[in-house]
Amino acid sequence: MTQGSKMVESIIRQAAKKIIGANNVVALTGAGISVESGIPPFRGKGGLWAKIDPVEVAHIDAFLENPAKVWRLLIRDMGRLLVSAAPNDAHHGLAELEKVGCMATVITQNVDGLHQAAGSRRVIEFHGTFATVSCLQCHLQQPIKNCLTADMPPRCDCGGVLRPDCVFFGEMIPTAAFHAAQAVAAACDVMLVIGTSATVEPAAHMSVMAKQNRAVIIEINLESTPLSDSISDYMIKGPAGESMRQLTAAVDQMRAAGP
Ligand code: NAD
Ligand code: ZN
Repeated sequence: MTQGSKMVESIIRQAAKKIIGANNVVALTGAGISVESGIPPFRGKGGLWAKIDPVEVAHIDAFLENPAKVWRLLIRDMGRLLVSAAPNDAHHGLAELEKVGCMATVITQNVDGLHQAAGSRRVIEFHGTFATVSCLQCHLQQPIKNCLTADMPPRCDCGGVLRPDCVFFGEMIPTAAFHAAQAVAAACDVMLVIGTSATVEPAAHMSVMAKQNRAVIIEINLESTPLSDSISDYMIKGPAGESMRQLTAAVDQMRAAGP
């Protein structure tokens, strides 16, 4: 179903009211929030998976078997994109909500660091980061930008292959991030779910946990997702940047108007 502009306006007003009335607002973000920063998502329109097979490239077994291939097919280009990408209005909107006390924590599935670049301070990186790489042999860490022009696969001074510090398919979520995300998801009373296809587990389960603990779920996505008809209380169908611009404007307006 498409949403007319009057309908979107009304949903945004209702969502803003929920945010202002809440004690603990959390966001769960996915690749879609960074599309307007020029970073393609995996699924959905223009998604990378239309061009490459995830099991072939983003699985840890594929990486360990042929790291040069995975660096060439995915990591190098993604790394170059991320090094020069800038946050968009959706990242800025979340950072602004945190600044005014209306956003406790952002749980992100993204590895692009754009929430932190926008100024969000409480960010849980559920799938790690592409900002750094680590040596498979000696575990020494360094910035990914050091190795984007090297022969593939890039290697540490010790000769070991370097890997990005993200979570590949087939790997465990870092324990600290997993526990922290579960705790904030269970404690929030409003969760904003932005730009995620909600198909990657256990990240998608964070929104289910929030709902089970009676949080109001506000979803922003270009398309419907498995959450839209089941757990989302409000669905704002539109691009993340524009939608967050409208939502933060509505929050600002209501805060200025007072209780
Ligand atoms: P996904 O690729 O599975 O789905 C992207 C979702 O974003 C889709 O539902 C799509 O409809 C929506 N979308 C696309 N453009 C949008 C826009 N402008 N505004 C709002 N929504 C938009 O993403 P996922 O659910 O995050 O899962 C993919 C996994 O891939 C993640 O775990 C993440 O680690 C990784 N990934 C990260 C990045 C990044 O860091 N920027 C990019 C690609 C993939
Ligand atoms: Zn090393």
